[in-house]
Amino acid sequence: MHTIIKEKQACIYLDRCNLHKTFKTNSKLFWIATYCTGSKQSACMLRSYKDYGCTVPENLLPNGSFLEI
Ligand code: SF4
Repeated sequence: MHTIIKEKQACIYLDRCNLHKTFKTNSKLFWIATYCTGSKQSACMLRSYKDYGCTVPENLLPNGSFLEI
């Protein structure tokens, strides 16, 4: 029996997302792996804001918490 592994596509907002402006360090790699290119992509709060045409708060994180800036 063959297993078909479907490659997950990256988020459509990846190249114009606040997340990548907010983080200057490698800590953003966690968020990218988990959300932007990972299994939790559809649960991302930034994405929800964008999908509804809302302005995304600068310090909003994919899990809905806010980064202190
Ligand atoms: S943080 Fe959310 S909206 Fe931004 S690229 Fe990643 S999954 Fe998409």
